[in-house]
Amino acid sequence: MTESAAALAPTATQTAPYTMTDKMKDIVSLCKRRGFVFPASEIYGGINGFWDFGPLGVELKNNVRDLWWKAMVKCPPIGPDGEPVTILGLDSAIIQNPRVWEASGHVGGFADPMTDCRESKKRYRVDHVSVYTTNAAPDACWIAVPSGDDEQDVFKKRLKKLGSKLSADQYTAVGLDKIAVADYGRIIAPDASKPGTLTEPRAFNLLMETSLGAVADADSKAYLRGETAQGIFINFTNVVDSCRGRVPFGIAQIGKAFRNEVNPRNFIFRVREFEQMEMEFFCHPNDAKMWFDFWVGQRKIWWQSLGLSDENQQFHEYPADELIFYSKRLVDVEYRFPFSHPGYGELESIAYRTNYDLIQHQKFSGQKMEYFDPVTNERYIPHVIEPAAGLTRAVLAVLCEAYTVDPSRPSGMYMNFKPIVAPVKAAILPLTAKGDHPVIATKLYMELREKYAVDLDIKQNIGKRYARQDEIGTPYCFTIDDQTVTDGTVTVRHRNTMAQERIALSQIAAFLEVGLKG
Ligand code: ATP
Repeated sequence: MTESAAALAPTATQTAPYTMTDKMKDIVSLCKRRGFVFPASEIYGGINGFWDFGPLGVELKNNVRDLWWKAMVKCPPIGPDGEPVTILGLDSAIIQNPRVWEASGHVGGFADPMTDCRESKKRYRVDHVSVYTTNAAPDACWIAVPSGDDEQDVFKKRLKKLGSKLSADQYTAVGLDKIAVADYGRIIAPDASKPGTLTEPRAFNLLMETSLGAVADADSKAYLRGETAQGIFINFTNVVDSCRGRVPFGIAQIGKAFRNEVNPRNFIFRVREFEQMEMEFFCHPNDAKMWFDFWVGQRKIWWQSLGLSDENQQFHEYPADELIFYSKRLVDVEYRFPFSHPGYGELESIAYRTNYDLIQHQKFSGQKMEYFDPVTNERYIPHVIEPAAGLTRAVLAVLCEAYTVDPSRPSGMYMNFKPIVAPVKAAILPLTAKGDHPVIATKLYMELREKYAVDLDIKQNIGKRYARQDEIGTPYCFTIDDQTVTDGTVTVRHRNTMAQERIALSQIAAFLEVGLKG
């Protein structure tokens, strides 16, 4: 490997075993270097919980977004009743009347219990801290660490550092939310040196506030939406009346949501500004079970279509006793991210919410949320199945799945994007920057750019250009060389195998038509 190639290669080429932490670091660094994702406000030192999507990131995100919109709104599946499903699109305002968030329960209840550490001044979500408790010695302290897959290792390191006389197996891990406040005095907080620094838990509201108009006072207070779903519920009757919505049908929306997450982390997994893709499917209460099972099946097909492997994905159904009072079923779609490995992180939750949301808005607004079925003459408030997915997390899952270490190539890795999500579909690379090569390449580029996102890259040696395309996950490279000038053929390089073959210039459009389908 050349020196410049070694500089490009990920940490995999070093002798130490390549860990999931290394992989995550490499993904974040690739995203910055190649223009997928940048830290927001970077020149001012950044801002915690916010990220900007760069030129390639926005293409990738739009591709994922468009696939969801196509699967939901433009070309929804055939339903379990054999009829094509109807789903109508919506783009509601980010800021709504604050009463919306009172009705939805977000103002009163969208709050996580938090505890502050008086020593480190850090704030923790109570359900995100594990406490290693022991009664082996009456004066032994309990040790708190952030919950996560590596928490046992972190605990063992802390135990050693704190010089405990007890061994790790004399401790039992319990969630901080399960510990009585009276016992807080025994706990050494995750970033503290002594016990008893954690405050009693307090509710912390996740809704982001803003104020409208010239004077900021109680009357001007408004909220940035904490989810896109409420915009759908409050427009239910508008859509039924204006677009002849006939139950069963759905309303779908993609857009930004804001949550004042206490502890944003894991790159773009838990952030304060993110995008959601939510659909509310309105049905008759008697049919809700059938539609719930149907949508779980459909969502599985969709996540697979992005290229997420079965082994990194799981569908987790919650038992009835863990559901919130108005919910009848809940299945989370989860992905095994490098930072959650061997555990999983949530991508989407599919919930059977009964008619709770429509009833709440009827109560708070005084407006009827009923549906009248002209066939059966029945009047009722429809039940709702809600597949609520995170677009930002979907992009992260696609990035993590695609990142493939391959020490045999100069880049040391490649992004194994499925062609349908790849931000650049093909690169056109003249072997030299002078003479006929760039002329033919430019002509090909001008033809293909009408239909596909293609890159014309003329400078640098060909190895470096292939390396760049591997890093951004371009499925195909077409190289124009002397033979192209004489016989009109080009070299096609396949990203994953690096195999090369020659095809005629005239066949390229047909080649891409087939090759970019998957
Ligand atoms: P979590 O338990 O991870 O906080 P949640 O269950 O509160 O998520 P929902 O309210 O069900 O999330 O929102 C639906 C989807 O929105 C989630 O599955 C996730 O993909 C996305 N999402 C929620 N919060 C965030 C966040 N802070 N950053 C990025 N995406 C998020």
